[in-house]
Amino acid sequence: MKTLRVAVIGAGVVGFSTAVCIAEALPLCSVTLVADKFSPDTTSDGAAGILFAAEFPDISLERQKHWFRDSFDHLMAIACSPSAPEAGVMLSSGWQIFKEVPANKRPFWSDYVIGFRTMTDSELKRFPDHRFGQAFTTIKCECSSYLPWLEKRFRTAGGRVEQRTVASLQELGSSFDLIVNCSGLGSKTLVGDAQVYPVRGQVLKVEAPWLQHFIRDGDGKTYIYPGMHSVTVGGTRQEGDWRLQVDQGDTESILERCGRLEPSLSKAKVLGEWVGLRPSRRNPRVERETVLLRGRQVPVVHNYGHGGWGVTLAWGTALDALGLVKQCLHDMPLQAKL
Ligand SMILES: Cc1cc2nc3c(=O)[nH]c(=O)nc-3n(C[C@H](O)[C@H](O)[C@H](O)COP(=O)(O)OP(=O)(O)OC[C@H]3O[C@@H](n4cnc5c(N)ncnc54)[C@H](O)[C@@H]3O)c2cc1C
Repeated sequence: MKTLRVAVIGAGVVGFSTAVCIAEALPLCSVTLVADKFSPDTTSDGAAGILFAAEFPDISLERQKHWFRDSFDHLMAIACSPSAPEAGVMLSSGWQIFKEVPANKRPFWSDYVIGFRTMTDSELKRFPDHRFGQAFTTIKCECSSYLPWLEKRFRTAGGRVEQRTVASLQELGSSFDLIVNCSGLGSKTLVGDAQVYPVRGQVLKVEAPWLQHFIRDGDGKTYIYPGMHSVTVGGTRQEGDWRLQVDQGDTESILERCGRLEPSLSKAKVLGEWVGLRPSRRNPRVERETVLLRGRQVPVVHNYGHGGWGVTLAWGTALDALGLVKQCLHDMPLQAKL
């Protein structure tokens, strides 16, 4: 069988996860990852990277559970290996707290994280504005380390990397037999997907090594996530907001809200501020289609639109995308494979 040329567009956590899965599982394919921005300049780089998810409305819960569990198992194996510090993957324990008791007290992922339980009244006493809470251990995956680690793994599997902007899929039509689109927010223009929109997020990195446990308000807007080298405090969720500059009003609001949850933060030194745009969509798009490119029918597998949960779901959706790539190869006319 001749080598099939596969292009993966995107060097964020979704693109690199997908590229690694394909390159390792299908050694007969030559895989090239193409992107205009690489670590440390992708959205993935600044994400807190805590494994956690909300439910997407139109995707079966079974499929979403698979995505979460596959990612969790993959990262858990790394967290418990000597690669953990280099890959930026660690276990993280803490609390999610709610001002009102939520309708669903056991989210769909509660069986996959470690030791999920309802907080006791005595634990809740330190959060007087909150009436209900969940305690559990999950994983924190820091993409500023994880992406370079994945890139090394991709190259070891024979993958190649190219830095350039892809203005249209047509550009890749004659050089590749199959295209995998992991361009996140870029899909809005690259494949004209009007359903993709940004949800702006601003965070601060602070030095507070005495903080060991995460605290997340159930509204998703206020959180404190201790990491390997600093603590991420946030945040904002501004839909349709494309601004990438730091907003001073947001900084003050973040420090005030997080300080109410953890007063000792007033002693923390601010190390930096960062803004990213979550590549949001009603549901992530993990599906395949065939597109006419330069007179050829070329299979395209899409994997984008993970919103605020891209680090959480990257490996799970990458395995799903790999399954779609295999289906495309299976359905290709015989002469394309010979
Ligand atoms: C403040 C904040 C906190 C977050 N916290 C978490 C968290 O705790 N847990 C979690 O799971 N998620 C979190 N997220 C969400 C997470 O960051 C995203 O879901 C994830 O990074 C999406 O990854 P991606 O690979 O799809 O996109 P990106 O990281 O944006 O990568 C897209 C890639 O595609 C490339 N690209 C796009 N268009 C083109 C083109 N035309 N040509 C060439 N290349 C192109 C880009 O250059 C880039 O390489 C957070 C996000 C923010 C903003």
